[in-house]
Amino acid sequence: MKLQLLPSTIEANGTASPRQHLTCFVIDDAVTVDAGSLAMAASRLQMEQVRDVVLTHAHLDHIAGLPIFIDDLFSTLAEPVTVHCTPAVIEILERDVFNWSVYPRFSELSNDVGPVLLYRPFSPGEEFQVKHLTFRSVEVNHKVPSVGLLVSDGPTTIALSGDTAEMDGFWDVVNSAPSLSAILIECAFPDELEELAQISHHLTPKRLKSELEKCSRRGCPVYIVNLKPMYREKIVKQLLDLGLANLVPLEVGKVYEW
Ligand SMILES: [Zn+2]
Repeated sequence: MKLQLLPSTIEANGTASPRQHLTCFVIDDAVTVDAGSLAMAASRLQMEQVRDVVLTHAHLDHIAGLPIFIDDLFSTLAEPVTVHCTPAVIEILERDVFNWSVYPRFSELSNDVGPVLLYRPFSPGEEFQVKHLTFRSVEVNHKVPSVGLLVSDGPTTIALSGDTAEMDGFWDVVNSAPSLSAILIECAFPDELEELAQISHHLTPKRLKSELEKCSRRGCPVYIVNLKPMYREKIVKQLLDLGLANLVPLEVGKVYEW
């Protein structure tokens, strides 16, 4: 399984910045988890192949690229972009984004071939198939309705927490999976911003450490994502200070293969 966290911004020399403002993971150049920078940073191949977007939740940094992606491809889509998410997320998207004011309601529009946007809802806890991938969703603890995901192509399975604070169901799913190649978990704020992290339902390095104690898959690589760009260096230092050998920040733009 190939996974890439798409860049959000570029440096002055044109290379991808390590700072993550938006969230969009592309799996096997064909399916994405979230769509933060989908339209802005997808490769030509990814633009041609991605027609399925799985959303963890509806926060802007996770969906910002979705309306633009559909807009960019509108007349050329031979099949609709299918958005897989919970009914709560569909309601937010239709009410607050695709509402004819912020952007067109693409779910009511077609090109010469047919519809351009379809929703395929799933309930938290449900297992569903997207292309060659099996997803299992699990409710996590964020400010708005959100899920974490277990993603499997058969031989390889990975877990993504999405945005979250302390959680239990996610660890039950992680611990009971037959095998696991990687865990991607968020850590948005440094320890000093504990209060802000609590209010916004995110993790800090200190609380991440407690979370990882719930994980029975000792030695499984743990990649940290969703570090708030303003505090990236501080969070990375605090993560390294935890002294956990299997824990590293996920590199933006790098293609991982498990
Ligand atoms: Zn969020």
